[in-house]
Amino acid sequence: MDAAIYPGSFDPITYGHLNIIERALSIFDRVVVLVAVNPQKSYLFSPEEKVEMIREATAGWPRVEVDGSEGLLVEYARRRQIHTAVRGLRAVTDFEGEFAMALTNRTLWPEMDTVFLMTRSDYMYLSSSVVRQVAQLGGEISSFVPPPVERRLRARFGHD
Ligand code: ADP
Repeated sequence: MDAAIYPGSFDPITYGHLNIIERALSIFDRVVVLVAVNPQKSYLFSPEEKVEMIREATAGWPRVEVDGSEGLLVEYARRRQIHTAVRGLRAVTDFEGEFAMALTNRTLWPEMDTVFLMTRSDYMYLSSSVVRQVAQLGGEISSFVPPPVERRLRARFGHD
């Protein structure tokens, strides 16, 4: 089934995100992982660093493409003629925001739809912000992120 876009902050990419990508690959022919820039958020890593980390982490998956965009998801999707977005759902707390975003995107471009994949239970509480906090305090993050991401986090926080 065609292509899908998996948009997000990925600040940085975690095993939770990678699990969603892997499962999206069993549904879609191609998955475009899109590093989105939300002007209302501040990030630890630049979009270029995030794209590079995701490329490293998904190097074994030829059907994955990694890109960045500063504009609206629907504009990017329309330009590429990709009608489906993939998002991951963890606890119910994710639900309301995701619901609002999916409906907004469909209002902006009625041909756009969003597919939600439930998290794997062991990644339920895994988020980029938890990883950043643990890394900043010098904690063990190898079960949360792949090795290239771990190295960069250590370097960023001066724990290497
Ligand atoms: P955003 O700022 O757009 O929410 P994130 O990088 O935090 O960007 O998340 C991107 C997407 O991945 C979201 O749909 C989020 O719910 C999902 N996601 C993040 N962590 C996990 C996880 N551990 N398991 C499943 N989905 C996840």
